Amino acid sequence: MAAATAGGDGGGGRRLRVFFLPFFARGHLIPMTDLACRMAAASPEVVEATMVVTPANAAVVASTVAGAASGGQAVRVVCYPFPDVGLERGVECLGSAAAHDAWRVYRAVDLSQPVHESLLRQHRPDAIVADVPFWWATDIAAELAVPRLTFNPVGVFPQLAMNNLVTIRPDIVRGGLAGPPVSVPSLPDKEITIPVSELPDFLVQDDHLSMSWDRIKASQLAGFGVVVNTFADLERPYCDEFSRVDARRAYFVGPLSLPSPSAVHRGGDSDVDCLTWLSTKPSQSVVYVCFGSWAHFSASQTRELALGLEASNQPFLWVIRSEDSNGGGRWAPEGWEQRVAGRGMVVRGWAPQLAVLAHPSVGAFLTHCGWNSLLEAAAAGVPVLTWPLVFEQFINERLVTEVAAFGARVWSGGKRSVREHETETVPAEAVATAVAGFMQGGGRRDTARSRARELAGSARAAVSENGSSWSDIRRLIQDLTDASASRV
Ligand code: UDP
Repeated sequence: MAAATAGGDGGGGRRLRVFFLPFFARGHLIPMTDLACRMAAASPEVVEATMVVTPANAAVVASTVAGAASGGQAVRVVCYPFPDVGLERGVECLGSAAAHDAWRVYRAVDLSQPVHESLLRQHRPDAIVADVPFWWATDIAAELAVPRLTFNPVGVFPQLAMNNLVTIRPDIVRGGLAGPPVSVPSLPDKEITIPVSELPDFLVQDDHLSMSWDRIKASQLAGFGVVVNTFADLERPYCDEFSRVDARRAYFVGPLSLPSPSAVHRGGDSDVDCLTWLSTKPSQSVVYVCFGSWAHFSASQTRELALGLEASNQPFLWVIRSEDSNGGGRWAPEGWEQRVAGRGMVVRGWAPQLAVLAHPSVGAFLTHCGWNSLLEAAAAGVPVLTWPLVFEQFINERLVTEVAAFGARVWSGGKRSVREHETETVPAEAVATAVAGFMQGGGRRDTARSRARELAGSARAAVSENGSSWSDIRRLIQDLTDASASRV
């Protein structure tokens, strides 16, 4: 097989064909597409990037790919059929599937293995960047004698925390859900303690991930390296530790998605009216409320949140996923929309989050602590109020509130859990107090805001020429080029 041109000589040699395989969720599809675009932009003469996605997910990445094309970077898209797991046609990711069908999306991961293998054998790329759950990518890469990189869309702090917690998993499982709070072993820098109810399920009981964790980790460690959407200044001691223990090579290349007024249609058709509405509000006056691309809220919690935002007396922009707002507005308290009209805006569906965070009227972000959202907030210099819901989000919250200090918790007054049925409803009064207190300034909010500003400066510096993330993208391309040349 012909090798790619090392270093890109512009003399007609074939470019390094890098294939990107994202998991079926927008929080993975979006940053991995941004990574493909970033690599293509960094070295267009060397890298030929190809997104490998299913048809409905091709629509999710389409606008980013089109944006890259208009900027002169061609990112190709190769489609494979989404496995038949009993989902409606066109439902191919976590955010589109109903909560009770999430297991089908995970089942689709397992069923993708043979399709991925035959597609990779057919196309024979020069390097494979595959998402965490696709452990077989390391084996097929070895068969093709090409590097496999793992793309991990969550940060280094949560990855290290989860890896270290796995070492004491038997104790956690023995203690059960009623066990005492757990101190995360061997973390550099700070002691972090987490109640069992806030740990990802796979650490506490058997589930899909607990059964495949070892295989996934082994495949990550045996692979060429790991690419992480983070920047060194956000979690430096953890990056150093991660490079030492968790990857043969680690590349910290974020933030991959940069807040900007023009970043409008990413991951779906956005409601852009909210940007016009934001422009009618004073600087830093609006709290932006969004819980990511797939988390589900109960109708009663949604109602309390609505009443809390109303009682806070602060301007707000609230994104409610269409799935949660279906049902004729059952969640909305009687007369609520009239009472908050003018002060609050609800987006039903998909907001242009990067453009919203870049808007000068936004003063805080009430978030579920999805990794992308946190990174985007830090890059925009917007302080956050944390309301984690599932999986590693409670760990991410600790990075925000205890380590990087650019946010504060919405609520600590009752039981919080990754399992919705165990979670106490956060009452409207608590939401109102937290939001009003944070937006009115002083104390926590001022500290968080100045820290967020600092992080925004470091994030921009990281992705600028010669910054840490810029250099890691260059190093990644060079390492792949060298690996390819050594195969000749
Ligand atoms: N997002 C968006 N508009 C929305 C909701 C989410 O653009 O209305 C984007 C957001 O900017 C982020 C991604 O979707 O890039 C969500 O990823 P995150 O890791 O924050 O949360 P997840 O959806 O994976 O829980």
